[in-house]
Amino acid sequence: AKAAGKNRFLRFHQDMMTALVQRTDLEAGLQLAIARGEISVEFQPIVSPRMGRVVKFEALARWDREDQRVPPAIFIPLAERSGLINEVGNEVMAQSLKQLASWLREDPSRSLSMNASGVQLQELDFAEKVLDLSESCGVGVYQLVFEVTESVFFDADCNVIEQLSRLREAGARVALDDFGTGYSSLGRLQDLPVDIVKIDKTFVSMVRTGTERLPILSSMINMAHSLGLTVTAEGIETDEQANYLIALECDSLQGYLFSHPEPADRFEHALKNAGHA
Ligand code: C2E
Ligand code: CA
Ligand code: CA
Ligand code: CA
Repeated sequence: AKAAGKNRFLRFHQDMMTALVQRTDLEAGLQLAIARGEISVEFQPIVSPRMGRVVKFEALARWDREDQRVPPAIFIPLAERSGLINEVGNEVMAQSLKQLASWLREDPSRSLSMNASGVQLQELDFAEKVLDLSESCGVGVYQLVFEVTESVFFDADCNVIEQLSRLREAGARVALDDFGTGYSSLGRLQDLPVDIVKIDKTFVSMVRTGTERLPILSSMINMAHSLGLTVTAEGIETDEQANYLIALECDSLQGYLFSHPEPADRFEHALKNAGHA
């Protein structure tokens, strides 16, 4: 029994070591990833059922390391812990704005949604960087949306509010990402400097064939609307989910039903027919 215990300990220890080595290795790799051109961006359309067309694209970071794609759920938290998120974020923003500028020549109504983490918003010149970059790319700030999670407001960092306010004053919009998964949710919504809420896919996935009532979903949408906010539902995978959210007067929809995130060239031509029928 003692030997078995010792083996278990050794095994545990080895697993920890392996995880640690992998993480260090990954972090070293991420440091070089930008210079090596391994970071790219994919775009996922967001559609408006009322307008029957794509209204926005969300930019999502991709890391292709050697032959392997590292999921954002792995490298974004790693980048946040190591401070590399600022560089990754700058790279994503530079690529995305360049892409938006090119799309705008064909379709002037296109807009772009980008994820910004708390670490990025703690930079004193975040908003200024955005304004400079949009000017040099020839993109209107009003064509940009910044997606943040509730957690960026908890650190009680005045700079976060300051940066977001500057961006909003310049015409950008702020979206509350993963809405409903945080701690405060409905009650604090009216105090937050946001324009859009993105209902998290865990709520959307509750809609299944035959679902009749989901009071949580309708309260979230009604509450947001009563505060003058726009609502996007994420993770729409089925017709039932799309129809359900349209019936609740959700303003826009995003999910695999419409399109997976794809490289920009996939969306070169205006997606006029991508609205849900
Ligand atoms: P998120 O911002 O909530 O992005 C939505 C995620 O859901 C994306 O995962 C997207 O591919 C996925 N998704 C879209 N439609 C569906 C669907 O119908 N069903 C399901 N199951 N999933 C769907 P992805 O690309 O793996 O990104 C994961 C997370 O990584 C993002 O979650 C975001 O928090 C973070 N992230 C990605 N790119 C960036 C970035 O440039 N900066 C920052 N700070 N975070 C990023
Ligand atoms: Ca997002
Ligand atoms: Ca989300
Ligand atoms: Ca998320």
